[in-house]
Amino acid sequence: MIRLLIVITFCFYGCANTVSYYPQCNFPDSVLKQGGLLKKNFDPKENKKSIFVKNISCYEGKIKKLVSPIPFFLKREIYEKEGINIQKGNFRESRIKIIDNKFNKISKENLSKIKEESEILKSKLLSNFETSIINFPLHHPSAGVISSEFGVKRFINNIPRNPHLGLDIAAPIGTPIYAAESGLIVLARNFFYRGKNILIDHGFSLKTSYSHLNRMVVQEGDMVKRGEIIGYMGESGRVTGSHLHFEVIFIGEKLNPVFFLAKD
Ligand SMILES: [Zn+2]
Repeated sequence: MIRLLIVITFCFYGCANTVSYYPQCNFPDSVLKQGGLLKKNFDPKENKKSIFVKNISCYEGKIKKLVSPIPFFLKREIYEKEGINIQKGNFRESRIKIIDNKFNKISKENLSKIKEESEILKSKLLSNFETSIINFPLHHPSAGVISSEFGVKRFINNIPRNPHLGLDIAAPIGTPIYAAESGLIVLARNFFYRGKNILIDHGFSLKTSYSHLNRMVVQEGDMVKRGEIIGYMGESGRVTGSHLHFEVIFIGEKLNPVFFLAKD
């Protein structure tokens, strides 16, 4: 009886003092660059500032943090008004040649396929998976060499295109591709430009995308664990060779994956 009383008394004090701080996240520290992020101690007043319109809040240990993406296309003045100086990016040019005429003269049929795929992608990016924990840095999605960085100004057959808002990792066909963090597979389809493409929702408004795969081994609706093989590298879609096009999307903004991965 006395023993039971001790246990109850211990639990009363011990358990009452155990406060859970959730959801837990440990986003990387602020990177004040295009495609970076802002992280600071949570202050509800800041939610109303235009630069923090897109934000999430979560705990790092016991401290509540506010995290907000810094888009590639940003209005520097808005940040300067808040005393935040976003470093200007110096992005190189890349000129590639695509020979496959399927990508140079888009048929009517493919044009409607492209439009349909863009709508599907948009709707999948709205997915809102909820979880109580996320871990950074992210797991490296693949072995290989970086063949194109984030922000590169692209010219395809000498025609200027949108900047490259992902990270290209090149390795032979069949190189395994790993989930950068645990999450829900919200898209696993073969698209015109992106080829075999997987999109994972990790919760906390963070998603990662893997394009140009040779083979996908997951399906929409599957749950995956950090570091699990989700497919194999390839050259499906519009490419000049075998590589992975990897994107990190935070609250709808494509950010520089390098800021979220462990430094080698
Ligand atoms: Zn790419």
